[in-house]
Amino acid sequence: MHEMSLVAGLFEILEEKAREHGARRVTAVRLRVGRLAGAVPELLVTAFDMYKKGTLAEEAALITVPVPVLVRCRACDEKFEVDDYVFQCVACGAPDLEILSGTDMLVESIELETDEDASL
Ligand SMILES: [Zn+2]
Repeated sequence: MHEMSLVAGLFEILEEKAREHGARRVTAVRLRVGRLAGAVPELLVTAFDMYKKGTLAEEAALITVPVPVLVRCRACDEKFEVDDYVFQCVACGAPDLEILSGTDMLVESIELETDEDASL
């Protein structure tokens, strides 16, 4: 499963952030997933839940936020969202589009629990 290696990369970021902030635990992760990122959100969640066992994110939930594919027409400068993978300008019909967003994955936020937060 391709998503497993993506999640492994995500955990490197989580562990680094937790160390940086002296956190004991990761409680939630929000991940922006572009529609052209090459990853299925449901499979990312499945992979995350498999991977988190025994880690500092054991009780964390992965929340995926879908990011639409935004493009710009190089012919007329129109900016619009691409649906159904039809890569043609909605204004002038040109096929020469620059993709502005929707092709990558990005950690939007990480919720950490530090010792100060722990209830006594
Ligand atoms: Zn155009």
